Amino acid sequence: MMWRRGDRGWIEVICGPMFSGKSEELIRRVTRAAIARIPVQVFKPALDDRYATEQVVSHSALSVAAQPVSSAKELLLAVDDRTEVVGIDEGQFFDDELVDVADHLASTGMQVIVAGLDLDYLRRPFEPIPSLCGRAEYVTKTLAVCHRCGGPALYTQRIVKSDDLVVLGATGAYEARCRHCYSPEEGQQEALAIDS
Ligand code: ADP
Ligand code: MG
Ligand code: ZN
Repeated sequence: MMWRRGDRGWIEVICGPMFSGKSEELIRRVTRAAIARIPVQVFKPALDDRYATEQVVSHSALSVAAQPVSSAKELLLAVDDRTEVVGIDEGQFFDDELVDVADHLASTGMQVIVAGLDLDYLRRPFEPIPSLCGRAEYVTKTLAVCHRCGGPALYTQRIVKSDDLVVLGATGAYEARCRHCYSPEEGQQEALAIDS
């Protein structure tokens, strides 16, 4: 099908390490849409109840109302036909179906904005964000400030002992680190120490 002027619907991904301003940027984009009176819905995974259950809150205390959902399918069912902008925070905590759900919503004309970690604390791809990047028209990579040296931080360093993939945003559990200050051993040795 030919692209026609006026066709709408696309995917935007905002990805990077913790503290890089992903939630802030998501909040900024959906708030602009809301100011323009464009119908917006924001979702977050139900497991992330760090600050408030029905809000997305940034580390800098910006917030926007958000609906917690426990799967990509539940998100799809919760999207209203009249919605034009769909914001999704903590996309890495959704199942892989989020890729097809975002794709579907974009195909029906919605602007879908997904924020999430692209890498886990061992720098492994954190699905479904990397796959979503491939399906997205626009990808913004956000960098934090390295907690150790102040340089550009693209990695999330776990600084507490745990080998679970997810240690939910516990304050003091993670730091943003630049390429030079990131140390995989720092998290892993401690995790191994618990195993043994
Ligand atoms: P993310 O969603 O990527 O974890 P947030 O949008 O919640 O990030 O928070 C970004 C805010 O966190 C920044 O604007 C700043 O106020 C604060 N912040 C705290 N530590 C850092 C850091 N090391 N680098 C950048 N921002 C930080
Ligand atoms: Mg965030
Ligand atoms: Zn550094």
